[in-house]
Order: sequence, then C-alpha cells, then structure tokens
Amino acid sequence: MPSQVRVGRGYYKTEKFGSKRRKILKYDTYSYVPVKALLQQLLENSAIRDQVSEIRPCSHGILQDYCDGKIFQEHLVLQRDRNALQLIAYYDEIELCNPLGSSNKKHKVGCIFLSLGNLHPNIRSSLDFMFIVAVGSSKIISKHGINEFLKVFVKDINELNQSGVLVQINEQSSKVYNIALLAFLADNLAAHQLGFKESMGFALRICRSCMATRNSSQRNFRETDFELRTDIEHKRQCELLTGPMQSHNSTSFGINRRSVLEELKNVSVVKNLPHDIMHDLFEGIVPRELKCILVEFCIRSNFFSVKTFNQRLVNFDYGQLELGDKPAEIDEVSLKKPETNIRQSASQMLLLLMIIPFLVVDLIPQENHNWTCFLLLIKICQICLSWQIDLNIIDYLEILIEEHHTLFTRIYPQLSVIPKMHYMVHYPRQIRLFGPLVHTWTMRHEGKLSVVKKASCHGNLKNISLTITKRHQHHLSYLLNSNNTFINRDKYDCNSKNIVEMESDVLHYIKQNTHISVSSTIFKPKSVKHSSIVYTKGSIILLGKGNLYPQFSEISDLYVIESQVIIKVKLLETKCFDNIYNSFVVEELPQTDFFLIAQVPAFPILHIRKSFAQGNNKKYILPRQFIVI
Ligand SMILES: [Zn+2]
Repeated sequence: MPSQVRVGRGYYKTEKFGSKRRKILKYDTYSYVPVKALLQQLLENSAIRDQVSEIRPCSHGILQDYCDGKIFQEHLVLQRDRNALQLIAYYDEIELCNPLGSSNKKHKVGCIFLSLGNLHPNIRSSLDFMFIVAVGSSKIISKHGINEFLKVFVKDINELNQSGVLVQINEQSSKVYNIALLAFLADNLAAHQLGFKESMGFALRICRSCMATRNSSQRNFRETDFELRTDIEHKRQCELLTGPMQSHNSTSFGINRRSVLEELKNVSVVKNLPHDIMHDLFEGIVPRELKCILVEFCIRSNFFSVKTFNQRLVNFDYGQLELGDKPAEIDEVSLKKPETNIRQSASQMLLLLMIIPFLVVDLIPQENHNWTCFLLLIKICQICLSWQIDLNIIDYLEILIEEHHTLFTRIYPQLSVIPKMHYMVHYPRQIRLFGPLVHTWTMRHEGKLSVVKKASCHGNLKNISLTITKRHQHHLSYLLNSNNTFINRDKYDCNSKNIVEMESDVLHYIKQNTHISVSSTIFKPKSVKHSSIVYTKGSIILLGKGNLYPQFSEISDLYVIESQVIIKVKLLETKCFDNIYNSFVVEELPQTDFFLIAQVPAFPILHIRKSFAQGNNKKYILPRQFIVI
C-alpha cells in the first residue's frame, strides 16, 4: 500500500554505466500511506469499529479525553456526528544511525503518524495503534520545506472532509465515516517549523499561542497577561508576509510563512498545535530546575555531597517496573559547569521527580525557598500527568504556575524565563481545549519512533523510508487479520508452571461474588497487563477516594481463572498527607480483600516509598497524578 511521492522538481545526476557516465533524471521522494486506504483498512476490523461507535459518557466537571475539550465540542463535523473519526496527527524526526557515529544526520527521517481519538486512551497509547502515514529523509524535508512534505497528507484530509471514508462492513452493507482532525502534535521545533520562528530563544515573538515577546514573558505568568493569537489575525498576518515590509512583518508577528495546515477545514496552527509537556517539562524545565537545586544544595550551601545523592539514587528501593527507568547518577563535574544540563531521558527524569523528596528532604532545612519552588513544580507536573482533571483543578494549576514562576525569578535572578516556561501559562487553557495534557504529550510517540528505528536496523539503509512504511504496514495487516481480541485483551502468562491449588479465601470470594466455576484451573501469573497498566505482586493500587484521604492497597496475589483476573490485596490505611514529602502516609491493616481487575480504578501503579532519614519508618505514597483530597 505505501507509495513513493515525488517532491519538488526533477534534477539531473551523473551516474556511471560501465566506463561511461550518463546524466539521469532524478526526483526526491518520500514514502506515503494514503490516509483513506489506511482508515478503510482499520475500520474493516470489527473490534476497531466497535470502539469507534462507542460514545464514552461525559463526566460533567471532569475532563478525561479529547471529547471533553472545546476543540471536540465546537468542531462542526463532531457537532452533527459524534461518531466521526477523530484524527490526531504527530510529526517528529529520528536519527536511524548512532547519533555519535560518522553517519550522523545522513539517515535521519521525518515521520507523520496518525492516531484515532475514538479509541480508548489506554488502547490509543499502545504503539500498535499509532499508524505511520509518511516517512521521508530529513535532508529532503529541509531541502523542500515541511509544507511540501505535508502537502499530500493535507490534500488527502481535505478530500476525506468532503467525501468521508467509505468502509465495506460485509458483503451487504457499507458505511461512510466522517473525519475531524483534532490536533497536530509535534515538539516545539517541529511545531514552529509550521510557520513560526524556529529559533525560539532568539526571536522577538517566542510563542505560537500568543504574541509574547522574550521580554514580556520574563515578568508575566498568567495567560491573561498576553494577547492570544487568533485564526483571523493569523491569516491577516500571513497575508502581510509579501511585499517590501515582509522582513519587518515577519519579525514583528513572529511568523515565517503560512502553513499548509491552514488549508485544512476547521484547523488552524494557532489552536490545533498543542504544547507538549514531555519536551517542555521533562526535557526542559525539570532538568534545568533540578540542576539549580542540586547546585544550591551540594555546592553553594553544602547540605550534602553529590556522592551522597548518587549513593541514595543507586540504593533507592525502586518498584520492579521502575528499574528500566532508573535515573543515571549525577556527574559532579558537569553540575559545576553552567552550560551543561543534567542528562536523563524524559522517563528517567519523570521517575527522578517522583522520588526526589525521599532523596533530599531529610538533608535540607525545613524552610528552604529552592525546595519550595521545586515542590511547586512537582505539584504542577502531577496535574499535567493526570488522566482525569477536575475543572476546579485547572484554576489551581494556573495559580501554581504563577506562584512557581514568580518564586523562580526571585530565587534565581541570574536565570531567564525560557520559552518552555512561558508555554506553561497556556496549559490551563490547553486542558480546556483538548482534555488532560497527557493525551497531547508525545511520550508514547517517542516510543513509536524507537520501533521505527528498530524496523530499520537490518543492514540495508537504501530507500529506508519505503522499507520502514512497508514493514509497518505488514505488521499492521498481521495484527488486524490475526484476531479481533488484540484490541482489549489482558496480557498475562498462564502456563503449567503457575497452576495452583484453589486457596480457601479465593474459593469463598469466587463462590460469593462471581459466576466462575470453582472447578476451573486457576493460575498465579507474575504480572497482568490490563488497560495498559501492569499489575504486579507488591505494587500499590488506588482503590478509591475514601472519606478524607484516598484509599490505597497492596497487591498480595494475582489469579487468573476462566480468563478473569482476580486481585488479592492487603488493605492500607491512609493516615495523613505529609506536606514535606508531598506524599500520603499509610499503614498496613490486617484485612485482605479481593477484586476483579475491571473493578479497580484505572490509575498508574504506585509504590511504597521510605525516607532515608534515620528513625523515620513511615511508609509514603507519592502518586504520579494529582489526587483531590
Ligand atoms: Zn504564549
């Protein structure tokens, strides 16, 4: 199904034929999977069709997905057809060879992916459900411009806006699906390539959402302090990019060109290019501020040494599933250099952020402005990472961001407010537009890029763009044709080795609460993956919100019987919220309980944390997401 699309004009290249040289007419190309054919292929699968036709109920006052945001609710197509296909596009580039090797940049490719917003977020975040649409060499993309690379994609979407996608359900019936492109996700550089100034650090206007200048962003920390860009004004500004005032207008408006995305109906680069918390927070603001506090604590104030910090980092009691993201030790030499950043991947940085109170709090004075500022950043990140956001929390987030930025500029007067810090002022409105920020982050897409890299890792890099798309299409065809249960299936390992005797308390639970036959074989797998969450023995789950504090419990066993997963838990009592550790304090209760896995609220797996402080035997839980208490 992938085809080669020509881009730009042909050119002559001299090639050797035996002893002679000839000029051959060549064209730059990229590989492309037509959007219509891709959507038809997906919707011919009944499990995907079922997901698309399912309308998830809106929980009033709580934002959970794109469908709760204004972009969805005010979209003209979705207003008349709630089952229309919600398309989410993503663009990024990846280096296929070793970035430190001699072939650096030679085999860098740019990719466009599509996801379906109709799929449940847990399914959508699976790498199998991010679909490649186009792959092209970065050299070709930068030679002809990203507008040229996106042209065919935009043309396809516009045609589908008119005609919809005709899907053959069976021999007798077919159905036409309307489409609505909700968002175009990209990192800041790629998003700014779509018409805005690419060097955000040096441009007069630094933001694609508002008219902020570098100066005005240093002292204003609320979105209302800035003039937002609007569709109409942006269109007018693009029209002024010709003529003698072109250069002046380009600088004063902070735009380079009109994006080809503007040709799409109901899409505008000023509202459909959301900011990305992964790049802004976990690859920008968090490592920068972490370095600030470590310099303050280890070098200026000498509260503890880098060696002590690294020892604690190494000896920390990580959860079993966290070991893959264990943060790297901090390099003392680079900590002393002002120009170097702390090097961790985004997922390592996220984990470090969530454990850092346990690494440093007992070593620093209780009242410390640097720590207060960092704690504000942790709270902001918790809200940004939440799968569900209460409308009231959005106002709280706005206050937290203003407080954080005000305190940051006061305690680090030598540091500027970088553009990524400014973008945070738009997060509250972005939640209202698109729902929780985790649905517009590019963390999972980055994971997909590593799959793309693996697909290209088999030697021959000639016409690698086509190879990547072909391999991806083969894998997709295999998945869609293999069975219909791949979409929602729990994953666990049940074999003859983990068959167990039915224990009396499990037997009692099954008899009292389920229709499962007690004579069926019962397994005890080590872990179960359900709705993209991996449950393991010893990890902590959130059971509910409780009267005063959230109610947590520890998984003591997992059982699988007749394809049903049963979780046995040890109950925990939440005693209080400890502001110093920004965590809940829990104690074990003697009672146990059982749940079917589907009854457990979807919430990231938690872990019991312990302080390094001598004599402190408390058990803490620091949730990655914000829990209203
Ligand atoms: Zn802005």
